[in-house]
Amino acid sequence: MKIMKFGGTSVGSASRMKEVAKLITNGDKNIVVLSAMSGTTNTLEEISDYLYKKNPEGANEIINQLEAQYRKHIEELLSTPEFKQRGMELIKSHFDYIRSFTKDLFTLFEEKVVLAQGELISTAMMNFYLQEQGVKSVLLPALEFMRTDKNADPDPVYIKDKLHNQLELHDEATLFVTQGYICRNAYGEIDNLQRGGSDYTASLIGAAVNAEEIQIWTDIDGMHNNDPRIVDKTKPVRHLQFEEAAELAYFGAKILHPTCIQPAKYANIPVRLLNTMDPNAAGTLVSNESEEGVIKAVAAKEDITAIKIKSSRMLLAHGFLRKVFEIFESYQTSIDMICTSEVGVSVTIDNNKHLNEILNDLKKYGTVTVDHDMCIICVVGDLRWENVGFEAKALDSMKNIPVRMISFGGSNYNISFLIRKSDKARALQQLSDGLFNGIK
Ligand code: ADP
Ligand code: ASP
Ligand code: MG
Repeated sequence: MKIMKFGGTSVGSASRMKEVAKLITNGDKNIVVLSAMSGTTNTLEEISDYLYKKNPEGANEIINQLEAQYRKHIEELLSTPEFKQRGMELIKSHFDYIRSFTKDLFTLFEEKVVLAQGELISTAMMNFYLQEQGVKSVLLPALEFMRTDKNADPDPVYIKDKLHNQLELHDEATLFVTQGYICRNAYGEIDNLQRGGSDYTASLIGAAVNAEEIQIWTDIDGMHNNDPRIVDKTKPVRHLQFEEAAELAYFGAKILHPTCIQPAKYANIPVRLLNTMDPNAAGTLVSNESEEGVIKAVAAKEDITAIKIKSSRMLLAHGFLRKVFEIFESYQTSIDMICTSEVGVSVTIDNNKHLNEILNDLKKYGTVTVDHDMCIICVVGDLRWENVGFEAKALDSMKNIPVRMISFGGSNYNISFLIRKSDKARALQQLSDGLFNGIK
C-alpha cells in the first residue's frame, strides 16, 4: 500500500482534480491524502479574522464569494445531474455551517472548525468524482483516527488502532481518500497539524499502515538544490537521506513540512516527492541511503533573532550554559543555532513570543545584545568533518557577505550561517553559483 498526498495546487481546480484522479486510479488500493484546494485555507483564515474582529458582514462577503467559487468547481467537476446535485448539497451544507459561526461567539475552538472545512470539502468532492467515474473509493474520516496528545504531538498508537478499524470497515474499497492537516486533539476537539501539515498526515498514515512508500505530489519536480522562488537555475536533487531532507524542510524548503520526515524515517518508509504537473519526472527519493561526498542543497529560514550573552565573569564558568538554556526552556522557546566562545555564547531563536522575558532573565548572568531580522542559511549534504574542503567551498561563496554566526559539526549533514535577512537572496544565489553551477 502506498500513501499519495496531493497539495493545494494539485487539487486547485476541477481540471487538476481530474488529473489527480487519473494518477490515483492505477489499480492499487492506496490511501490518498488531500489538502484543501489552493487558497482555501488562507481564505478560511481571513474569514476567521473578520469573525475575531466581530465583523460578520465582512466575513459573510468572503464566505459568499468562496461558496460561489466552489459551486463553479462542482459544475465543472461533476457531470451527471445526480452527482451535481449531491455536490451542490455538499457545498451548501459546509458553507451554511461556516455561516453559522457569524452569529455566535468566535474563539480559537471555532476557528479550528472553520479551518477544517477546506480539506473536508476537497476530499468529498474528489470522492464524488471518483464514484461518478465508477471507482469504488471510500472517504476515510481523518477526524475519526488522526489525533494529537496533551502535548499537541500526534498519538501514533491511537492513530494506528483507529485507522485500522476504519480500513477494516471497507473490504470492498479499491481506493481510500482522506483529509490531510485536520485532526482531533486530546480533548476530542477539532484541531489541525499546523499550516502545511498535510505532508505530516501522509507520513503519520504511512507509518501507521507500514506503507511501501509515501508520495508527496506537488507542483514541482522534487526537492530543488535551492529555493526556486528566489534563485535562478535550481535543479531537482534526485536523492536525499532522511536527515538531509529534515534539515532542508526545517530550514525553509517549503516543499516538505518540517515534521513529516520523522515518522517516515522512524518506520524506514521511503518518501518520494513527485510533480503532479509532470508525473513522469523522476522527482526526489528520500530514504535511509546516503550518498558520499556530495553537497546536496541550500535552504533559508527567515525571521530569526540572535542573542549574545557575554558572561560577566569573563571565563565560561561551569553551569553558565545550563543557566542560559534553562531560561529558554522555561519559556518553551527552542534554540536553532549555538556558537560558544570562552567569554560568551550566541544563540538564535525563531519565536519571539517571550523575547522580553528571556532577555530580562538572561541579564542576570551577563551582558546581552540582540540582532533582529536575521536569516539562517543551511547548506546540506555529506558534511562529515573528515571531508576536506567542503566547508571552505561554502565559505568561499559567502565571502562578501557579513556572517554573524557559523555552525558546523552539530551533525554530519549541515553547515549553517547566520546572516542579515536583507542579504538572503544574494547569499542563496552565490551559494548556488559556487556549489552547484560552477560559477565563481
Ligand atoms: P503543496 O501545496 O503541494 O503542499 P507547497 O507550496 O507547500 O506545495 O510546496 C511546494 C513549493 O515549495 C514549490 O512550489 C516551491 O516554490 C517551494 N519550494 C521552496 N523551496 C523548495 C525547494 N528547495 N525545492 C522545491 N520546492 C521548493
Ligand atoms: N490546507 C492546509 C494549508 O494550506 C494544509 C496543507 O495544505 O498542507 O496549510
Ligand atoms: Mg505544502
